[in-house]
Amino acid sequence: MLTYSYLAAGKAGFCEKEKPRMIDDKDAIVRVTLSSICTSDLHIIHGSVPRAVTGVTLGHEAVGVVEQVGKGVKTLSPGDRVAVNVETFCGECYFCRHGWVNNCTDKNGGWALGCRIDGMQAPFVRVPYADTGLSKIPDNVTDRQALFVGDILATGYWAADISETGRGDNVLVLGGGPTGVCCALCADIMGANVILCEKSGSRGEFLRKNFPYIRTVSPKEAERICLSFPRGGADRVIEAAGGEDTFQTAWKLARPNAIVTVVAMYDKPQVLPLPDMYGKNLIFKTGGVDGCKCDKTLELIAQGKLDTTPLITHTFAFAQMDKAYELFASRNDGVMKVAITY
Ligand SMILES: [Zn+2]
Ligand SMILES: [Zn+2]
Repeated sequence: MLTYSYLAAGKAGFCEKEKPRMIDDKDAIVRVTLSSICTSDLHIIHGSVPRAVTGVTLGHEAVGVVEQVGKGVKTLSPGDRVAVNVETFCGECYFCRHGWVNNCTDKNGGWALGCRIDGMQAPFVRVPYADTGLSKIPDNVTDRQALFVGDILATGYWAADISETGRGDNVLVLGGGPTGVCCALCADIMGANVILCEKSGSRGEFLRKNFPYIRTVSPKEAERICLSFPRGGADRVIEAAGGEDTFQTAWKLARPNAIVTVVAMYDKPQVLPLPDMYGKNLIFKTGGVDGCKCDKTLELIAQGKLDTTPLITHTFAFAQMDKAYELFASRNDGVMKVAITY
């Protein structure tokens, strides 16, 4: 079968491989029906993910149909429509038992698909630990509605959740990219008063049009709003921008004793100016998603409470993968996310 793979530093492209086969009895083989491209795929191609294996099939965001399951798979059968989780996790180790599945101690634990083992930019994928790595999609949820459940939406839900977002909290989300939008949507569902800060004027316009129930503002406006809150800043700040100065903005616009959650990936180390923040008593949380609440987000989608489909701005056939990557990397034509059909 034809796959889209990481061929060498700086290079990705089509590559012919054997159709994946079961290796373990907890595996499933999934026929991919829709996939996407993530900024992390670009990071791999640019050589900034040291653990990425040369030759690996890219892609860690997809939905599909279960084709085959091993004897050890308890919750799935062939024919089930599923969202694939970006993370592989055993469900049994110390970290998994605490819900910290990103740090699962299995050799493939954490982000393996499309990085260390073959991913979903292919017609078929082998998913280890299928019971935890796949979530059944309710009948009334379409592939497009479920496309982001396993990665960016999982991240959004996790970030709002570990920020201990509650009803009436003022939550500032920095960065109106796809992940920031997912953080804002999930904080909104949790009853927060959300302010989404986006510096690009055209992207801000897109967000106001497509997510009118989220208050999207410029950085200047976000600063004015947060500093005028009676408690002196936002109750929760989720930093999903990863810009030059956005970490500084995050803690400065937080009120005393706020939770500041850093979801963003930075190119460079960041400064934690402890003398300047002394007395503000902030709580920082950082990291990569623990993607184990996908059933919950699928339920919210099925209930009509959560809709990420406006993020899909462009759709390509799998044969047009080069074009899809080119557009996604260029950020031209207002692209937010692409969907790849098979
Ligand atoms: Zn991703
Ligand atoms: Zn584990």
